[in-house]
Amino acid sequence: MSDKYDVIVIGAGPAGYVAAIRAAQLGLKTVCIEKWRNEEGKGVNGGTCLNVGCIPSKALLDSSYKYHEAKEELKVHGITTKDVGIDVPSMIERKANIVKQLTGGIGALFKANGVTSLFGTGKLLSGKKVEYTDHDGKTQTLEADNVILASGSSPIDIPVAPVDEKVIVNSTGALEFTEVPKRLGVIGAGVIGLELGSVWSRLGSDVVVLEAMDDFLAVMDQQIAKESFKILSKQGLDIRMSCRVTGSEVKGKKVTVTYTDKDGKDQKETFDKLIVCVGRRPYTEGLLSGDSGVNLDERGFIHVNEVCATDAPGVWAVGDVVRGPMLAHKGSEEGVMVAERIAGQKTQMNYDVVPNVIYTHPEIASVGRTEEQVKKDGEPYNIGTFPFAASGRAMAANETAGLVKIIAHADTDRILGCHIVGPSAADLVQQVAIAMEFGSSAEDLGMMVFGHPTLSEAVHEAALAVHGHAIHVANKKKRK
Ligand code: FAD
Ligand code: AMP
Repeated sequence: MSDKYDVIVIGAGPAGYVAAIRAAQLGLKTVCIEKWRNEEGKGVNGGTCLNVGCIPSKALLDSSYKYHEAKEELKVHGITTKDVGIDVPSMIERKANIVKQLTGGIGALFKANGVTSLFGTGKLLSGKKVEYTDHDGKTQTLEADNVILASGSSPIDIPVAPVDEKVIVNSTGALEFTEVPKRLGVIGAGVIGLELGSVWSRLGSDVVVLEAMDDFLAVMDQQIAKESFKILSKQGLDIRMSCRVTGSEVKGKKVTVTYTDKDGKDQKETFDKLIVCVGRRPYTEGLLSGDSGVNLDERGFIHVNEVCATDAPGVWAVGDVVRGPMLAHKGSEEGVMVAERIAGQKTQMNYDVVPNVIYTHPEIASVGRTEEQVKKDGEPYNIGTFPFAASGRAMAANETAGLVKIIAHADTDRILGCHIVGPSAADLVQQVAIAMEFGSSAEDLGMMVFGHPTLSEAVHEAALAVHGHAIHVANKKKRK
């Protein structure tokens, strides 16, 4: 093995492994270094997303929803169930098997594409050199024309609730409970807190979510956020806004959390488990030597330009470790962009059309700008909404909660954003994302033929409603 490469990628999460595969597809001699180890101490690819993030959380969300559905949701269809039970260790094992299969699959993809896969730690030195230390501590120096940093992120710890991996856990620990906690506290009503809170609530936990902010899902479209709050509260999630956690005390197998409530009063709650989900921070520990030439910004992200080039020539950075939303697909697309740029192409990424999903039930999904953002930007806009309660397909499925909202520019009619809470929102929002990529107007979307009966018809109707032309709901504004 020669130690000179075209591309060295550090980190094999969805940003790094995708960058490595695309680089190799383009004929570049590529190596990907990954330091993650599984419980047996073996190196594994896949990063946060495959090991402890997107995939395992969705596996548990799906399992827990099936349990909830069998117990609570089938009656309405005339189906009776008896003795519906759960076996948490089996659920966790199923999730672990999916993780194993997918992380192993990356090794196969690397092989198929000719990517050299190394397990161990990479450290960027000056002059595009990388010090590689394997898991036995053996070190060698690799060189490349280009280096891609994709070291990801890690959960934020807060001193008022230090993780002990027994009673107080972060998102990783919350994927490993071996029994359903009777009372579960969650700090942070963000994406991860809501998803993990939902998993254990469906399995029977009494879940209290404590959130410091005044507005629920503050960065989302507030009409959709308010609707989502109502739906999730009705499901039994006790979400307490304007509640800042100030301390915690573990006694035996329980934890007592102190917090200030919306009136500034001190409150206390005791839980069997506490999940800390207060966000994630970029991870650069041990990644950069002092003279690497790569700079961090004031929040600890690797500083990059609009095409992910760092301040050091030939060194790029992608994924959670750089600015922008911490989403797997955002990192993957950056990985593709960088690999193609290294190969001499002029690829750019459209950061205005990155879908974002919260996998509660129903799902909450968005793409583009919120109404609040468009208003702040001072642009004139029209809105079209369509409630799932008016959708035949949603009714057939007994999934009528929520709505589709489309925002279009008042002068050009170009779609500026779409926000959905409702059944299959993740897949529905992608349809609007595709339309937005092609510069679609609301009228264009309204002129397309949608299959019947589908949930997609709700997207069609919302687009029609932008101009007061919705058919299956009374239009707020009437236009010819
Ligand atoms: P990571 O996936 O964190 O991968 C970085 C890799 O680099 C790691 O494997 C790490 O070991 C390795 N590494 C770091 N430093 C070094 C070094 N010096 N040498 C070698 N290797 C190194 N996003 C979504 O889009 N959809 C979801 O549904 C979703 N759900 C989530 C659920 C949970 C519970 C969590 C925690 C996250 C979720 N995310 C989701 C976020 C998503 O996981 C991240 O955005 C994504 O993993 C970021 O990819 P990345 O490649 O930048 O970093
Ligand atoms: P996200 O960044 O989407 O994962 O969301 C994390 C959430 O945790 C944010 O909405 C924060 O406001 C919230 N948060 C952070 N610290 C605290 C705290 N001490 N008490 C309650 N909520 C918090």
